[in-house]
Amino acid sequence: MARQLSNDFSWSKSRHELMSGCLRAYYFSYYRSWGGWERGAAPEVQQLYGLKKLHNRFTWAGSAVHEAVKDALLNYRAKRAVDPKEAIERVHRKMQAEWRHSHAGRHWQDRRTFAGLREHEYREALEPDTWKRNWEFTQQALAWFFQSRWPALAQSLPRERWIEVDDTDFDRSVFYLDGVKVFAVPDFAFFDEDGTPRVVDWKTGSARDGYDAQVLGYALYLSERYGLPLEKICASLVYLNAGVEKEVPCTPEAVEGFKAFFRDSVGRMKVLLADAEKNVPKGEEAFPQKEDPASCAECVFRRPCGREAFTLQAQAG
Ligand code: SF4
Repeated sequence: MARQLSNDFSWSKSRHELMSGCLRAYYFSYYRSWGGWERGAAPEVQQLYGLKKLHNRFTWAGSAVHEAVKDALLNYRAKRAVDPKEAIERVHRKMQAEWRHSHAGRHWQDRRTFAGLREHEYREALEPDTWKRNWEFTQQALAWFFQSRWPALAQSLPRERWIEVDDTDFDRSVFYLDGVKVFAVPDFAFFDEDGTPRVVDWKTGSARDGYDAQVLGYALYLSERYGLPLEKICASLVYLNAGVEKEVPCTPEAVEGFKAFFRDSVGRMKVLLADAEKNVPKGEEAFPQKEDPASCAECVFRRPCGREAFTLQAQAG
């Protein structure tokens, strides 16, 4: 029997970022588009859901890299060989097919193949070599991964030292903080030779604020799910394009900092609810648009939000 979904309140780093960026986009994404996958949903709700699922070229490249690295790790865990050249070519072919799917607007009929690109949906004016550069960026991240220490390390791990690889199981990939459900899907977690639990988050692009909080959240998740002492977990951010690794210590101060950030964020989300227990939002007026329409140029919701014409005019100069 199909599982009944209900829009329960939960917290994630991406939810926090959307709320901080634009309250109206947050409302569209977490409330107004809910149920838009159902055939019988109102057209407006289906439209919002389709828009919410769009990628942009950067998130698309990041997802392609994460998927390919995940596949490689799962193969290493199963003691299967991986040919880096073939793996990268496979990603290229898949992205080419997805690009065509999106360019033809087929994501509105078939989102399973690919959810589409914002750049196509809004006919954005792009530099001629934009897509070529996007592929080069993807290829660069994968090429660095395959020549890094990580494949050899993963291949050397016996089965009992693997903890998790990007396990997107929405029933299990959660932990509770102050009674709030928090989603956490670490990219790679394993035990080191001396038994130290390590959690790794792959990043495409450059370093930015907030990544430490994300990986600390993963450490809390591992600690709760597997009963691991939090202070013993080593968390790392690995920047695949820059070829840089950064350790994020799980000190008591850092964990307290994460919890304070989390509580503040949850408090700001709850203020927007008419019924906190049932996760029912206040009316749309409680979720104002951004003041400056010029900052809407990259938003997936600019059409239903009434800001598409403005961004088109701005693009035309
Ligand atoms: S178009 Fe602008 S105001 Fe509207 S949801 Fe997007 S970012 Fe917010």
